[in-house]
Amino acid sequence: MKKIFAIFGNPVSHSKSPLMQSYALYGLGIDGCYGRYRLENGDALRDKFFELGLDGANVTVPHKESAFRACDEVDEFAKRVGAVNTVVRRGDRLYGYNTDAMGFLRVVESFGAVKNILFLGAGGTAKATSAILKDRGYRVDILNRSAKRLESFRGEFNIYTFDNFKPEIEYDLVVNMTSAGLSDDNLPAPVEILEATVPDAKGVIDVIYGKETPFLKFAKSKAVLARDGEDMLIYQGVLAFQYFIGINSRFEQIENIMRKAF
Ligand code: NDP
Repeated sequence: MKKIFAIFGNPVSHSKSPLMQSYALYGLGIDGCYGRYRLENGDALRDKFFELGLDGANVTVPHKESAFRACDEVDEFAKRVGAVNTVVRRGDRLYGYNTDAMGFLRVVESFGAVKNILFLGAGGTAKATSAILKDRGYRVDILNRSAKRLESFRGEFNIYTFDNFKPEIEYDLVVNMTSAGLSDDNLPAPVEILEATVPDAKGVIDVIYGKETPFLKFAKSKAVLARDGEDMLIYQGVLAFQYFIGINSRFEQIENIMRKAF
């Protein structure tokens, strides 16, 4: 029987997931289709999922916490971070996963020997990805513009605001986890902080994709290896697809197919 998938978000018109996932369905010869649904009220996610007759869904901003609540069961990691970006229906039960963090971990691993990482930003994406990195033995320090969001990192990570940050170690990776540069020309931190951390790093990652942000331009001007958020997006998409279809192999094959969406 034909399988039906969709992405929920608001806004959702910009999302690459329908193209990536449709290519993968087609490429693997699976009878299925994948659409997008702009959902205003996250509390309606579960009802909408069943009403649309979905077999699986991806979930993007701002509904990842709602998706977490909509599921009957969530895996251990998603439970810890309280956010779900992949929902799979089995019978009449919904199962939730977080593939953003695993996708980001793969990007970090692709840099080779990395130990110390500085996150610029303390939002939802930073929360999920820092947890998985810490589990895998990385040191992650969190630097954010304002103090409030840092509270949920207190005790587990070194936390700083722009005012009290003094680099005590050399960072192997500096990551823009903020939305600075997404639809403006802002750097994610004052230029003095970037000057003190980026030039000595092995690389930088910007989780924003599809454009060269001021942060990426800054890193390139210092001849530091710079990657945007495209790989993270593709990797989380491959992992979600594997949950949808129920396979745990052929990662590279699916990755190569999804890359055609860019
Ligand atoms: P949140 O809204 O949860 O958090 C936003 C963060 O950005 C906060 O730390 C906020 O700081 C900071 N921020 C916003 N504007 C500025 C600025 N001008 N200067 C400094 N800091 C700023 O966002 P998310 O965690 O959900 O998303 C963060 C980014 O990750 C987005 O750009 C999103 O598109 C991207 N993303 C990419 C993915 C991928 O697959 N490539 C997957 C998921 C997300 P403050 O607390 O001070 O407000």
